Amino acid sequence: METSLKALIADHAGDAPAIGAPGRTWLSYGALRTLGDEVATALHGMGIDASDRVAIVLPNGPEMATAFATVAQAATTAPLNPAYREDEYVFYLEDLNAKALLVEGGYDGPAFAAAQRLGMAIIRLSVPEGAAAGYFTLSSDLSGSASRAPAADDVALILHTSGTTSRPKIVPLLQSNVAASAQHIRDSLDLTPEDCCMNVMPLFHIHGLIAAVSASLASGASIFCTPGFNALNFFAMMEEANPTWYTAVPTMHQAILTRASRNRDVIDAARLRFLRSSSASLPAQVMLELEKTFGAPVIEGYGMTEAAHQMASNPLPPRAQKPGAVGVEAGPKVRIAHELENHLIEGTGEVVISGPNVTPGYESNPDANAKSFFEADGARWFRTGDQGAFDEDGYLHLTGRLKEIINRGGEKISPLEVDGVLLDHADIAQVVTFALPHSKLGEEVAAAVVLKEGSTATERDIRDFAAERMADFKVPRKVIIMDEIPKGATGKMQRIGLAEKLGLVEK
Ligand code: ATP
Ligand code: MG
Repeated sequence: METSLKALIADHAGDAPAIGAPGRTWLSYGALRTLGDEVATALHGMGIDASDRVAIVLPNGPEMATAFATVAQAATTAPLNPAYREDEYVFYLEDLNAKALLVEGGYDGPAFAAAQRLGMAIIRLSVPEGAAAGYFTLSSDLSGSASRAPAADDVALILHTSGTTSRPKIVPLLQSNVAASAQHIRDSLDLTPEDCCMNVMPLFHIHGLIAAVSASLASGASIFCTPGFNALNFFAMMEEANPTWYTAVPTMHQAILTRASRNRDVIDAARLRFLRSSSASLPAQVMLELEKTFGAPVIEGYGMTEAAHQMASNPLPPRAQKPGAVGVEAGPKVRIAHELENHLIEGTGEVVISGPNVTPGYESNPDANAKSFFEADGARWFRTGDQGAFDEDGYLHLTGRLKEIINRGGEKISPLEVDGVLLDHADIAQVVTFALPHSKLGEEVAAAVVLKEGSTATERDIRDFAAERMADFKVPRKVIIMDEIPKGATGKMQRIGLAEKLGLVEK
């Protein structure tokens, strides 16, 4: 198994296409390796090496992909969401202890202002006229003479978790963590140089960086880098990229489905080998509709930042992918642990993992580390915070996040289960079930739903539908019909805090 990003791309055919983008020529693997050497030389000349952190704020696209893949061959990369405001950048740049900020040539936006406020060095990326997708040169005012190349246990990538359940935590991922996860994904998806991934995921989040970019690089496959997800141009991008697969979060897949019928010609001409979904629960109904629409299998994976993305994956055909299951072991060991005690159990409990892809621990957060890691049966286990169980065929089923389980006067309700039932309603396009604070019970069940176009279903209809299919205590007391459900930066629906956001909590 390779243990660094540089080693991942070392052996692929030099003329094979690596990075593409709309309207651009392809960057070959040979050119990507040359770029890696040029970037290392440039950074070393700026006094930056394996022990330094470079924050990267770039628009989604080919340069973001290559900046990650090449800067990580010389230093620690810290990609940040380009949509942050100045104060957020000040916080993150300080929190990450970044040595320099990498931005585009003429950029003078909020990340630049934040770096100026902190007196932090700026590195600028320029794209020469007519360059292949992802090629760039670097410049800065810094000078120095560092040259230590990263080893397997140097940090390659540092990210914050999505902040779905609490304040985002800083996750350092070693060269060996990133390389291991990329190879696990390559192997579970049988990726080869013939494959082409169309990336629509944000490249400041683990999912796109590892599943789309790094796993493809580990395979000698090509990556067509779009400017990011947009349901309105998704099919035009697909026509140009002609990918063999793409990976996305469920809310994106749902948005794609709403535009599928007007793009039948693109779908019919596509050569998709499979579609992948990860990062949040994919309702079985959505999976089946995707398979019907695209005529390709949907491979659901289970990922998280702390695992450098993938923890489990559904297998490719002919072994069945199970709707509702997040997969079988696909790299790290996955077990079930007691939710409060440090030992492994059978049945339902907290999902724990152990493997070469798992972070050594959160940065500057001893409390979280003490709660998250434990030793048992000769291995070090990381607690995912997710609740689940294996079925008799070895497929993992999640019942929810421990923090999101609704506690209705002692009755524990899985919001995922309620979501699944409501999605069987013919008029419901999206649903997120969440806890509504309640004075006597502690918490009550509520659901926010988005209806399909033209539907006139009422809150009452939906509650009646639920009442026929679920025990009374699980039926949402409140159903809120809305045009759109609020999402986090990575496209995830956030159950925690939704009641407050929707103004349902009295202050
Ligand atoms: P935070 O840790 O800050 O609360 P987060 O957990 O959402 O945020 P990520 O690392 O992006 O941050 O997401 C990992 C989580 O996403 C997993 O722990 C799990 O709850 C959820 N998840 C990932 N894949 C799936 C899946 N296929 N089905 C259901 N949930 C999933
Ligand atoms: Mg998490």
